[in-house]
Amino acid sequence: MFSNKEKFKEAFLKKLESMYGKSFQESTSRDHYHTLGNMVREYISANWIATNERNRAKDEKQVYYLSIEFLLGRLLGSNLLNLGIQQVVEDGLKELGLELSAIEEIESDAGLGNGGLGRLAACFLDSLASLDLPGHGCGIRYKHGLFDQKFVDGYQVELPEQWLRHGNVWEVRKPDQAVEIHFWGKVESYREDEKVRFRHIKGEAITAVPYDMPIVGYQTKTVNMLRLWSAEPAPFPIHKNIMQYKRETEAVSEFLYPDDTHDEGKILRLKQQYFLVAASIGSIVRSYRKKNGSLLDFHKRVTIHINDTHPVLAIPELMRILLDEEDMSWELAWEITSQTISYTNHTTLSEALEKWPINIFQPLLPRIYMIVDEINERFCKELWNKYPGQWGRIENMAILAHGLVKMAHLAVVGSFSVNGVAKIHTEILKNREMNLFYEAFPDKFNNKTNGITHRRWLLKANPHLTSLIKDTIGIGWMKDTTQLRQLDAYANDSAFLEKLNNVKKKRKEILGERIRKQTGMVIDTDSIIDVQVKRLHAYKRQLLNVLHIMYLYNKLREDSSFTIHPRTFIFGAKASPGYYYAKRVIKLINSLAEKVNNDPAIKGCLKVVFLENYRVSLAEDIFPAADVSEQISTASKEASGTGNMKFMMNGALTIGTLDGANIEIKEEVGEENMFIFGLTAEEVLNFYQNGGYRSSEYYHHDKRIQQVLEQLINGFFPDVHDHFEPIHDSLLMQNDEYFVLKDFSSYIDAQGRVDTTYKDRNRWLTMSAKNIAYSGFFSSDRTIKHYAKDIWGLELSYSKS
Ligand SMILES: *Cc1c(COP(=O)(O)O)cnc(C)c1O
Repeated sequence: MFSNKEKFKEAFLKKLESMYGKSFQESTSRDHYHTLGNMVREYISANWIATNERNRAKDEKQVYYLSIEFLLGRLLGSNLLNLGIQQVVEDGLKELGLELSAIEEIESDAGLGNGGLGRLAACFLDSLASLDLPGHGCGIRYKHGLFDQKFVDGYQVELPEQWLRHGNVWEVRKPDQAVEIHFWGKVESYREDEKVRFRHIKGEAITAVPYDMPIVGYQTKTVNMLRLWSAEPAPFPIHKNIMQYKRETEAVSEFLYPDDTHDEGKILRLKQQYFLVAASIGSIVRSYRKKNGSLLDFHKRVTIHINDTHPVLAIPELMRILLDEEDMSWELAWEITSQTISYTNHTTLSEALEKWPINIFQPLLPRIYMIVDEINERFCKELWNKYPGQWGRIENMAILAHGLVKMAHLAVVGSFSVNGVAKIHTEILKNREMNLFYEAFPDKFNNKTNGITHRRWLLKANPHLTSLIKDTIGIGWMKDTTQLRQLDAYANDSAFLEKLNNVKKKRKEILGERIRKQTGMVIDTDSIIDVQVKRLHAYKRQLLNVLHIMYLYNKLREDSSFTIHPRTFIFGAKASPGYYYAKRVIKLINSLAEKVNNDPAIKGCLKVVFLENYRVSLAEDIFPAADVSEQISTASKEASGTGNMKFMMNGALTIGTLDGANIEIKEEVGEENMFIFGLTAEEVLNFYQNGGYRSSEYYHHDKRIQQVLEQLINGFFPDVHDHFEPIHDSLLMQNDEYFVLKDFSSYIDAQGRVDTTYKDRNRWLTMSAKNIAYSGFFSSDRTIKHYAKDIWGLELSYSKS
């Protein structure tokens, strides 16, 4: 039905009729979206079945990627692209008078994630399938993804997100493959064959029902699976109050926690974590048993990868199955479990390391707790043998300590591989945050620098740039992004640079049109488009960006000899609903926009745009249009970042600190092709360790700082009273934990270099071309190949056999 546009048109009209019983004339865009979506899913299903059959028939190791978040975004466009039928569909629809892009707009983002961690999981699925690797995702089918953000008077308001309101064309519900999961209750011991055994009794059962989504590889027949679990009442619940039971059950897969990095100490969150793990492992083990019988070789044929610590209960859950259901000895069960699980650490922020109070954990998961307790006992004994008498060391490494279950410790102890997500992050893990574990198990630790799928973030998001690159160096880079380096030969070619300039201009117009539609604002497409889009967090320092804009505004008003190339500052960021500081920064950005955008004195030179509801589909219009990529985190705090990679691949120049993957961007493209400023991670960590920073000194010695900080509290923003006082105080009274004032001056200087460089059009374009040329390293295909080879032990020639 997709072989040519005539066949497509015919099939489309037929499908539309059979689905809706309407004529084409009566049909709506939503009908068109659902019709097309269903056609594509049916088209995928033949290869999906074939991939499943192959996995069943052959003996390749299977990888299961467990993640509490998958930030997929929309799937129609990327499925069409990966299937290679985008053009046929676009042409066919055009002849029917329909625009593919308008139909794509109907789809709701699958926003089952907060930010970088969830988006990484989505990029990895795309790479796994595109590299023909047998790797599948396991997650939760939240009824409501991340909240929708609106601004009311400049303040963030959260609305429940409703992505399933019109159904999800990509999913297939599989009630026959449901798994039962038990909470609460107690553990009973009994004797059987001279052995003491345990069973979990009087628990509350709930049913996990899988919804499977196909993950289509690019130009390959591989279709992997993303299995998302939905919580439903069990058929025969033992429960006193049926309404309460139903409510509590459904709550398990109702909401994604809109909390980025802080540990939300909620019972429901722990329930969600065990739900994900027990459902996923239950179904993995069931299909494994069906094929192989015994679980003795489980670790040789299965790897379970845990994305951060949220799914770390995979360790005690697999132990439970091997001990209680398979009747294995502890030693054997431990050998198999710890050879099955691999773990990615995503943060060194101590407030983000998950720790659960035992008094919450134990009653909810009594058998799992017993197993964790035993893992801890044995681990501490092992440490005692290794480090006799070193109580302090053992206490610091224990899994259970001070009434808490330390999830990261459990993850390191129960897995065979621990990886960080960028070189510097892994080094900080090894040498500081997890140093004791590194000393004990140096071989477990490794680095896998994050990546992004260039298929979504370049081929799909930026067809204009894609086609320029194709015309310049051919198509080899599409399968092997390192070939983008061939563009370096054109970095001084004025014909190429002019075309690159035209592409950027075109993309700014597209973004400008979207901004106009959404906000009514008109942006200057000849201005520098300077973008900071990411979750709102103190450590990401949106505040530093804001203070720089305030400085520019003041300077432009006060110093008539001061001129800059016009600049449009674009922000996109959601704040966790309970993160009051972050919400104040949102209001500050909006107040600043109000002020700057309405001041005729500087009009034309500065504009501030804060786009509501930052998400994947919006991001796809932002990255291609950006000139400047703001990556200004307090050094040592951003584990990797992936937004930085998307910008680079689309030809934006980075202004940033030497943090996360910015360091590797520098290694690839060279420091001369970006704008580096500020403290290094080493300097920051030394300040934390030894003190010696006093923010008030920077305040007293820098008039620019004095002025902008005063303006936070002196009525400069007339509508807010003392709303920004806590921001002001965090910088002075609380000594500026994120070194905003310390880095202020060097940031202003770097921004000055941005301005000067941009005025030299050719120089800027050359730098932009070089960024694209050296962005190939950051394809998640590279990352996944390294996971496959170094961690998972997968064969890379999977499809060819
Ligand atoms: C890439 C991406 C992120 C991560 O951005 P960082 O700058 O790395 O924090 C967050 N949200 C969305 C929608 C993204 O596409």
